[in-house]
Amino acid sequence: MMKTMDDLFLMTLKDIYYAERQLLKALPKMSRAAQSAELKQAFKEHKDQTEGQIERLQQVFQILGKRAQGQTCEAIQGLIQEGEELLEEAPQPSAVRDAGLIATGQAIEHYEMARYGALATWAEAQKQTEIAELLHATLEEEKATDALLTKVATKSVHQEALRAG
Ligand code: FE
Ligand code: FE
Ligand code: FE
Repeated sequence: MMKTMDDLFLMTLKDIYYAERQLLKALPKMSRAAQSAELKQAFKEHKDQTEGQIERLQQVFQILGKRAQGQTCEAIQGLIQEGEELLEEAPQPSAVRDAGLIATGQAIEHYEMARYGALATWAEAQKQTEIAELLHATLEEEKATDALLTKVATKSVHQEALRAG
């Protein structure tokens, strides 16, 4: 039962914890599927960042005196599923497939930004400074990843994808 802001916070924390652990498995696949070396690298680096983000979430659970535990996030399952469908529709590496992978990656980062943004705001409202700092650190990484994907897209991938006709 969810009655208090503490309940809502914990439920959302479990949701993003589940999502991050799913992403740890999905990001290497996205990296392997990318054609562009830059895009491969971006997904690979974000996989490494994700490991640190999971550790931050474990710290948050610890501060709250709760066991680190995930709760199925249907949103992230759906976004990962869409990424898999893209790879089925475009079985060969190409710039067009890369453009689709970037869009999937950005949808994922935006979901994470929404979650971390809400959690950080709630932690601040409750004067949970240490927790808010941990959540903000990750929020900034998600924003930077989103911006990096935009850069990769506009710099190279879209130009080549458009040439494919
Ligand atoms: Fe993340
Ligand atoms: Fe969710
Ligand atoms: Fe992320």
